[in-house]
Amino acid sequence: MNVKLDPWGAVNIDDYSKLFDEFGILPFDVLIPDIAKPHKYMRRNVIFGHRSYDLITDAMKNGKPFSVMSGFMPSGKVHLGGKMVMEEIIWHQQMGGNAFVGIADRESHSVRGMSWEKCRELGINEYILSLIALGFEPDGLIYFQSESSSVKDLAFELGIKANFSELSAIYGFSGETNISHMISALTQSADILQPQLSEFGGPKPTVIPVGADQDPHIRLTRGLGHKMNMFRIEGREDNKDNQYISVRGKAAPEGALAEVAERVTGDAKLFEGHVDIFGTDDFPAIIDAVRQVELDFGGYGFMPTAATYHRFMSGLQGGKMSSSIPESHIALTDDPKEAAKKVKRAKTGGRVTLDEQKKLGGEPEKCSVYELLLFHLIDDDNELMELHSECVNGSRMCGSCKSLAAELMSDFLTEHQELRELARDRLDEYGL
Ligand code: SF4
Repeated sequence: MNVKLDPWGAVNIDDYSKLFDEFGILPFDVLIPDIAKPHKYMRRNVIFGHRSYDLITDAMKNGKPFSVMSGFMPSGKVHLGGKMVMEEIIWHQQMGGNAFVGIADRESHSVRGMSWEKCRELGINEYILSLIALGFEPDGLIYFQSESSSVKDLAFELGIKANFSELSAIYGFSGETNISHMISALTQSADILQPQLSEFGGPKPTVIPVGADQDPHIRLTRGLGHKMNMFRIEGREDNKDNQYISVRGKAAPEGALAEVAERVTGDAKLFEGHVDIFGTDDFPAIIDAVRQVELDFGGYGFMPTAATYHRFMSGLQGGKMSSSIPESHIALTDDPKEAAKKVKRAKTGGRVTLDEQKKLGGEPEKCSVYELLLFHLIDDDNELMELHSECVNGSRMCGSCKSLAAELMSDFLTEHQELRELARDRLDEYGL
């Protein structure tokens, strides 16, 4: 099956392993030993894949600067899927990352036709209040794309390196696609690269926590970041099998390559358009030196964008969760009693009769109530594992899970909504 990812569509990706083969997303679980206190989504394989996240684990381990960035398109109510991204941003902020949250009003305006006023209202009343209520700290930056001149300027610069064929190949744009829709794709790349601009401290590892359907943005941005840089660094071999490192000047200004030859360690030889370095295999040191030269010559020196990819929750009735079907999801502003009722009506992985359930056990992997507990409602891994084993060995019945999940959901929403009201009075702390 050919997997097509479409960030503006609502694609159900039912076999994530294909993403590893077809799109080069790497499995996340091998990185977990490098993380001091992994988030529950990491521990529970909800975050299943990554790109370049080793840059982030290295920064976290060694106290180096890093950023986390993600965005929300203001188009309706914020639901549990949005909460997942918010939690991931906040976790990285707590781990020492500089946090950035962009409200993608340019995307909403160009793709959904949402008015600017409505974008602002939804951005604040839905997304930002919940983000603050969940624990986002004021030392992070929350901004609207349309109000950020650094994002808009960078999007314009990135546009020089992007062409229609490339955008069409990634997003399926056609001759009918409006130009602002294309600009909004570049604006999101600018959002992603913004934390690496000099005004925010310069190049640094930046992770974007997303659902797998957002990978096209990540791929586009990684490509654009690479194209914006002045130099390309490669490992090569000469005709006597000697290994060396070559720094190729793509669009480097005059004198920049000579400066690279001066600054790198090893035996550097300057040629027309490139510098070859022998006697060292210290890629990280060469990369650092070359990036510094690039910055001194007015370039960006972008590091490759890192990303984590999480699984989606299914809809409460099974199938796909959809923001246009209220019964399929729980919004963070839903009335807690109504939300509890939705949980009680949710599809479980239970058997047809109680006898069968006692004999065969339930099927938590097909159960949306179990998903609610796993993704949102039970933080203690042991408690969850116990519940899981009681389900599969037939000693637990679905009614008790539904009651538990309904009560936990109602409690969570009640508290969250109180915190949202407190957040409303704190907006000025966030410059909003
Ligand atoms: Fe789901 Fe609980 Fe029923 Fe198992 S017992 S299928 S976890 S509701």
